[in-house]
Amino acid sequence: MSLYRCAKCKERIRGDINIVGIQCTNCGSKIFYKERPNVKKSLELD
Ligand SMILES: [Zn+2]
Repeated sequence: MSLYRCAKCKERIRGDINIVGIQCTNCGSKIFYKERPNVKKSLELD
């Protein structure tokens, strides 16, 4: 899993960008920037 950011509305998108048909859940854009994961390391526990 990777983090991406919508080029239009800056919404964060989590998932595999290589999957055909992925869209921003907020604005429907299909253009994303890849987020850099090295800024802060955190664990998600849920
Ligand atoms: Zn968007």
